[in-house]
Amino acid sequence: MSRSAHPAGPRYADVLPEGGHGAAPADINRLDRKIWPGGVARDEESGALTFAGADIRELAREFGTPAYLIDEDDWRRRAREWVEAFGADADVFYAGKSFLSVAIAKWAAEEGLHLDVCSGGELAVALRAGFPAHRLGFHGNNKSVAELERAVDAGVGRIIVDSHEEIERLAAIAADRGVRQRVMVRVTPGVEAHTHEFIATAHEDQKFGFSLAGGAAADAVARVLKHADHLELTGLHSHIGSQIFDTAGFEVAAHRLTEALAAIKGEHGIELPELDLGGGLGIAYTETDDPAPVAETARRLKEIVARECDAAGLAHPRLSVEPGRAIAGPPGITLYEVGTVKQLPGLRTYVSVDGGMSDNIRTALYDAEYTVSLANRASRAEAALTRVVGKHCESGDIVVRDAWLPGDTAAGDLLAVAATGAYCRSMASNYNHLLKPPVIAVKDGEARTIVRRETEDDLLGLDLG
Ligand SMILES: *Cc1c(COP(=O)(O)O)cnc(C)c1O
Repeated sequence: MSRSAHPAGPRYADVLPEGGHGAAPADINRLDRKIWPGGVARDEESGALTFAGADIRELAREFGTPAYLIDEDDWRRRAREWVEAFGADADVFYAGKSFLSVAIAKWAAEEGLHLDVCSGGELAVALRAGFPAHRLGFHGNNKSVAELERAVDAGVGRIIVDSHEEIERLAAIAADRGVRQRVMVRVTPGVEAHTHEFIATAHEDQKFGFSLAGGAAADAVARVLKHADHLELTGLHSHIGSQIFDTAGFEVAAHRLTEALAAIKGEHGIELPELDLGGGLGIAYTETDDPAPVAETARRLKEIVARECDAAGLAHPRLSVEPGRAIAGPPGITLYEVGTVKQLPGLRTYVSVDGGMSDNIRTALYDAEYTVSLANRASRAEAALTRVVGKHCESGDIVVRDAWLPGDTAAGDLLAVAATGAYCRSMASNYNHLLKPPVIAVKDGEARTIVRRETEDDLLGLDLG
């Protein structure tokens, strides 16, 4: 669906957003609880937002804008919710690629999460945080020899192998060190999930994993088992997509994975003890997104795997899942200051903020939708259909494509964009030599910088003239 196909000079109705914001909200100052972090509220007196007990205007003054804010209690509560929902007979791996820093790795460790990394850099952050290596998983379709050596030397709990080359490299590294490395084989089950639907017959034309249907997965398993002195095969892994709202796609994946486990038992006489269903559980970016409670998702996934294994006559493997966005997304917001406002009569209002696609690439990259709110005050002005844009030299530099903001939004106002805790700082760039914003953790009204703002010296330090 193209969003750029509006005819020239459309009537107002023609430019109504297609994406779920629909008509103007009855109360422009209201915050939808499922979208915003638990610790965000609008102060009745000032109309400004409070964030985890701190006045958001104070945070802007102290730390500047743009800034990423994380509600620490909300982050930890979501992490605990996942750990408790899956219980003692399953492991919850936080997907560090969604957002990782030393502080975050410590929170993850303290709340009982395991942690997935997918590069030497992410591994370095985890190790710097003192994250228990046996609770780490290492992903990636092209891990370098240096990365694999570092992972094996650090004692990473499991490495999810994704190519024949990697299996050989890893076996050699483990042999060289005289260790037996635990591995899982990443498979492509031919299921692709997107938001509200899934495709059970997705073609396997992608870079990740070994195809189940094509037999590559069976070959990879045989190859790992050949190196049994140095590789311990613990199970199969699959990851079917992201921003998924129901468990139907997981059901098909679990069915195919269990078939594969049964085939492995038939061929090699072993029952693999672990099964990983990956991540991808969705969150509410806008009011039309309706994620199921974590407890319900956990119950369904466990049920599905138990049923499939019973049907195949297999013992129940230890289940693992890998949420990233579902833990890190909702507790984070981005705070911007408005610099310019352009009203285009009959079209919409363009509000420019002091960041953009360098701190949030998801709108440009995935057509992602977000919810934005005036943050430094409440307003009685009428809602205006607004596009929140950044300051980059790129007309696709859009932060929120379709938003309803008060018609009196003006330069100097603060805007908060919700649910930016995942895949925004971690995908940030220095396009136009903008400086990456800091990450501020706030708890009980106290704010702490966990990743500082980049400086021009940081950037110029790389430039050797
Ligand atoms: C990205 C990814 C995840 C996390 O996805 P979310 O949508 O953030 O939950 C989990 N597992 C693997 C292998 C991934 O690549």
